[in-house]
Amino acid sequence: MTSSLNIKHIDMVIVGAGFAGLYMIYRARQCGLSVQCYEIGAREGGTWYWNRYPGARVDIECVEYSYSFSKELEQEWDWSERYASQPEIERYANHVAERFDLRRDIQFNTRVTAAHFDESTQRWQVETDTGERVSARFCIMATGLISAPIEPRFKGLDDFAGEQYLTSRWPAEEPTFAGKRVAVIGTGSSGIQVISEVAQEAGQLYVLQRTPSFTIPLRNRPVEPGQASKMKQQYAELRDRQFNSFSGFTLVHSNLAPPPSKSALEVSEEERLEEYENRWASGGLSPYYAFTDSLLSMESNKTLADFARTKIRERVDDPIIAEKLSPDYPILTRRLSPETNYLEAFNQAHVELIDLHEHPISHFTPDGIVVGDTEFQLDAVIFATGFDVMTGAMDRIDIRGRGDQALKARWTESVTSHLGMMTHGFPNLFWINGPHSPFYNPILLAEFQCDFVTELIDEMTDHGAEVIEANKDEERRYVQLTNDIGNSTLYPESDNYYMGDNIPGKPRATLFWFGGFPFYRTQCRLAREAWKGFELGSDRAQPQQAG
Ligand code: NAP
Repeated sequence: MTSSLNIKHIDMVIVGAGFAGLYMIYRARQCGLSVQCYEIGAREGGTWYWNRYPGARVDIECVEYSYSFSKELEQEWDWSERYASQPEIERYANHVAERFDLRRDIQFNTRVTAAHFDESTQRWQVETDTGERVSARFCIMATGLISAPIEPRFKGLDDFAGEQYLTSRWPAEEPTFAGKRVAVIGTGSSGIQVISEVAQEAGQLYVLQRTPSFTIPLRNRPVEPGQASKMKQQYAELRDRQFNSFSGFTLVHSNLAPPPSKSALEVSEEERLEEYENRWASGGLSPYYAFTDSLLSMESNKTLADFARTKIRERVDDPIIAEKLSPDYPILTRRLSPETNYLEAFNQAHVELIDLHEHPISHFTPDGIVVGDTEFQLDAVIFATGFDVMTGAMDRIDIRGRGDQALKARWTESVTSHLGMMTHGFPNLFWINGPHSPFYNPILLAEFQCDFVTELIDEMTDHGAEVIEANKDEERRYVQLTNDIGNSTLYPESDNYYMGDNIPGKPRATLFWFGGFPFYRTQCRLAREAWKGFELGSDRAQPQQAG
């Protein structure tokens, strides 16, 4: 990295102006820190800025999938639907940025390309693709957990003359598919949402499916008059309940289901089916709360998976297509996809399911795509091919810590972190919603982690420390615990992005903390006791253990 005398000096660089980055700006300012946030997009919102494809919609209820830090914000913002669509969530992000005057610290259309720790100054030297250089004491990666798209790479794609779209980089100007021959590649949550919408418009729709997803009706509906004000009176209790819950979404079961207390195997079949019917009637992510062992016991899981497969057969007219749409892996070990009329799309004559397990994609031609030895003529192709989850966004930045060690190189060997927020050898570098963070409501997690980081900064500064980094042994212990928890669940039993399986060559490891938010908070609290989880350094020498 080139050095420059004209380098700007600030307290904190924040990379990314999604929900995590926005809140980090707010918190850092409260602590009196000078900040500069860089954002690749032209506006804030992160995921909700980029993923503007038709049908993009949240699947955690909005009153829960929203900031809790400002009681005024909670009271003044009205959600129009139970699960808002992308434009409404983007408007919410815009409102937050304006209301708290956050934009003056954000530079848009700017990609951070490198962040190097300079051991002589104990500061991060950050470079952007616009040629800017900043020196910051702290560097915060608010780069998102599911934000680095997998670029489609197919033979002959450059020759394809039709339109091409990537769900995660959707153009601002809405394309039209009316009457067109369209293919969608990918049937994860994004593919499912876009297929449900495009099926209503396209003249012919080909759905190219490699692995089917388990689906459930979302059961979205408008927020009824009176409901919003009632909810606003209950925010304090709701936040408390979320904060003490495993995953941070609690409303999905109509009667505010208590956390599960029984195994699916200890109740009668009648009781079990009734429970599953209730979950399906409530929709969304409610099956995650069905029984204690849905994600722990293969036998228990199979009862839920069988039920979900029955529901697919009920909704799809052609039994052969229903079979192809039915997953054979343990349910919930890949993301459950709440949807609206997705399965019914396959009952329409102009929608064709192409099973890539029977014949893989061969190549694109100027006129379409060849699968097996059949060519399908296309006007447009939509790629919903997923993301390099958790590590991808940070891997795309040249991040170097002590001894010029590259973070990407370390994570290529094995993914390591302390508390899902930092790693030894990279002092004063934190990430939010990144590797080893809990599988939890991402907005509330961002609030928790930003609070944690800023409190740590306040305390270490009071302690006279310049730098803080993860204690190596405590980091090893946290990684072991994360992996042990992951291995005690069924997640390793399917190929999924939680384990890094969707990226060829990525080391297989549990990328999320699956131990629930309350237990995660305990880890964070314990780490702070007498600074046990950290090493502090107060001068330009190597850091020492404090406490
Ligand atoms: P995804 O779940 O990883 O799905 C990617 C899809 O593309 C998979 O079906 C995959 O097949 C397929 N694919 C990838 N490369 C392919 C290739 N070369 N040829 C054929 N098929 C290929 O990604 P996503 O749908 O974007 O969803 C990612 C996550 O974002 C979700 O799990 C969810 O957490 C979040 N999300 C949430 C919402 C919501 O809140 N409602 C909506 C969208 C996304 P294989 O599985 O066989 O690899």
